[in-house]
Order: sequence, then C-alpha cells, then structure tokens
Amino acid sequence: MIPYGKQSISQADIDAVIEVLTSDFLTQGPLVPAFENSVKELAETRFAVATNSATSALHIACVALGLGPGDIVWTTPITFVATANCALYCGAAVDFVDIDEQTYNLSVEKLSAKLESAESEGTLPKIIIPVHLAGQSCEMAQIKKLADKYGVAIIEDASHAIGGKYKNKAIGNCEYSDVTVFSFHPVKIITSAEGGMALTNSRHLAQQMELLRSHGITRDPDIMQGSSHGPWYYQQLLLGFNYRMNDIQAALGVSQLGRLEEFVKIRNTLAETYTESLNELPIQLPNIHSDCYSAWHLYIIRLNDPINDRDHRTMFESLRNSGIGVNLHYIPVHLQPFYRKLGFSEGDYPVAESYYKSAITIPIFPELTPQNQNRVIDVLTELLQ
Ligand SMILES: *Cc1c(COP(=O)(O)O)cnc(C)c1O
Repeated sequence: MIPYGKQSISQADIDAVIEVLTSDFLTQGPLVPAFENSVKELAETRFAVATNSATSALHIACVALGLGPGDIVWTTPITFVATANCALYCGAAVDFVDIDEQTYNLSVEKLSAKLESAESEGTLPKIIIPVHLAGQSCEMAQIKKLADKYGVAIIEDASHAIGGKYKNKAIGNCEYSDVTVFSFHPVKIITSAEGGMALTNSRHLAQQMELLRSHGITRDPDIMQGSSHGPWYYQQLLLGFNYRMNDIQAALGVSQLGRLEEFVKIRNTLAETYTESLNELPIQLPNIHSDCYSAWHLYIIRLNDPINDRDHRTMFESLRNSGIGVNLHYIPVHLQPFYRKLGFSEGDYPVAESYYKSAITIPIFPELTPQNQNRVIDVLTELLQ
C-alpha cells in the first residue's frame, strides 16, 4: 500500500538522535532552545515555545490568551479535532465557520457575516483559530482585519504549513495573528516524533506559554513574587502542565528542519505533477490562491457533483483495494458524536458537509517515487475515466 503520507528519516537524523542519547541531557538540555531558535529564525518570529505536541501548544496558547468559561472560540469544521478541543479544555465553548468552496479553508465571507450577527447578539468569540488546510494559508490579511474590527484574538493552526508562505513571507511570522502553532507529528512536513511549537511576537504571551508548558513554575528571579530564597528556589505562579518537549525530540526536529526547504520543494513538484496529470478527469483539483506558496501537506481531490455517498465510498474503497493508501481529511468536527452532544447537527455547515462527501486525500510525501506517483495517477485515471 502506498501511504498518503510518511516521514523521511535520514542517517543524519538518526545520528542526531543517537548523539543525544549518549549526552548528559535527555530532556531540557541545549537542543530544545536550539530548535526553538532555528524555527523562529525561519519564521522570523520573536519568540518560540516548543511543546510535546501541537495539541498542547494550542491549549497553552488559548490559556495564555485568557480563554475561560463563558468565552467562545471559532474554528473551521474541516480540521483535526484537536483544533476545537483546545477551547473545551479551557471551559470555553466552540462554534464553527463554514469553509470556502475553493480552498476548503475557513470562509472569510462567512466569517464576516457571522461576526456581524454575533456582535448584535452579544456572542462574539474571544479567539478565532483558522487552519491552513493541506499547507495553504488562509486569507490572513482579511481575517486579521475582521478580528481587529471586533476585538478578537487569532491563533493560526499551521500544523500542516511549516515551510509554506503567505504574501511571500514565512507562515509562522505572526504578522496576522497572536500565536501560530506548528505540529511535528510524523505525518506532518517535518517531525520530532511527537512535538509542537507555539510562535508569537508578544513577550507576554511567550512568557505565559513558557510557564504553562512546565507546571506554571519559574526559576527566573525577575518574574518571581518577592525575592528568591537561594539557588534551589523556584516558584509556581499559575496552574500549568507538563507539556515539555525533550532533547531527543528536539534533536530530530533540528535535523529535520535542515531538510524543510527540500521537503517542501519536493512536495510542490509532486503536486505540480498531479495537477498536470489529473486535470482531464472529472474531479476538482486543489486551488492555490495567488498569495500562497503551499507546504502541500496533503493533496486533496474532490469527486464532481452530482455524487452520492455510495460513489464516494466505492471510489475510496477501489483506490485502497488497488494499493493506494488514500485518506480523508477531515470528518467535519461538528458531526463527531461528542460534538453532536454539544448541540451540533447535520446541516449546520453545508459546504463542509458536501466537501466531506466528495473529498479524497491521495499520497504526497518526500519519498514518493515517480513510479509510485505514476501508479496513483494511472489507477485514478482508470477508475474515473
Ligand atoms: C496534526 C494536527 C493537530 C495536532 O497535532 P499533534 O502534534 O498531533 O498534537 C492539530 N491541528 C491540525 C490541523 C493537525 O493536522
């Protein structure tokens, strides 16, 4: 089976991890800050806080922004559940904004209309979390303008998008957001096995997130209350978590980061080949906005209307049966049983729901060989023509 995505681990990546294992520090050594520095340099952001997952990073970003009971977070239904769950961890409520027909990212038009009615109803969100689906940035300039108008904070969920660009600048620079989050899960663009990072240009948010990832504890006398009792002393200033990344993960992350540009270039070439080879078929190919250089975490095709659930499922199963490890990103979050219990139901976000009934993710990853990519193209052509 050709998988839809897969990490690429080089000998240098392996050596970097082994070196940590024989060094003095397995956790909290020099490599976590080194990884943070390299990522913030790449993204041209002032501060970076590494965590044990993007989910943790999303959670502490929400806490640092003051999210709590009575507050609301808006995100897209077409995302991994973690994007929405982080709001619930804080006791806040979640609501969704339907997606754009072309990019499958959160729709700016729908966002604008929903903000307008929320203002009159007194239900404005505290935070909006746009997700850069498949590696393509959302229309952040417009989203930021709307957020500023209504006094809403922004966390970019860029789990798919490290190495991508928006308006010729690296995704992660936080020009249009308070915090940007990356994921280093093995299926993502680069990996630290498990891992995530929160980037920000705000010293205050960075300091809060640093505290939150490690029990709310500090050893820095400058931010302690009163004076230090001595060299052993630390203070817990707030209720935090153990969300730390370790040095083994960071070593892999640093080594992988050195390959990021190459990875994204290969993904772009693979995407170009698909787009050229599949454009005669009765499917909708990905649409990339002219402001975006996608990191191409996913290559998503959509079966053309009119289709029914059975056609979609049959196509999906035929591809799997032919050895093509297709997937579906994502099941709309609001249709998960847990979210239905919170009051969401079928029909709430029609564009997301019709996307779900037609979308299929086909294989794209750095080590996808031309032969295997041709196999994907041939099988799709055979099944669809
Ligand atoms: C993978 C992913 C996450 C969660 O990342 P982890 O590092 O596995 O916690 C969150 N949001 C999106 C959009 C993702 O794809």
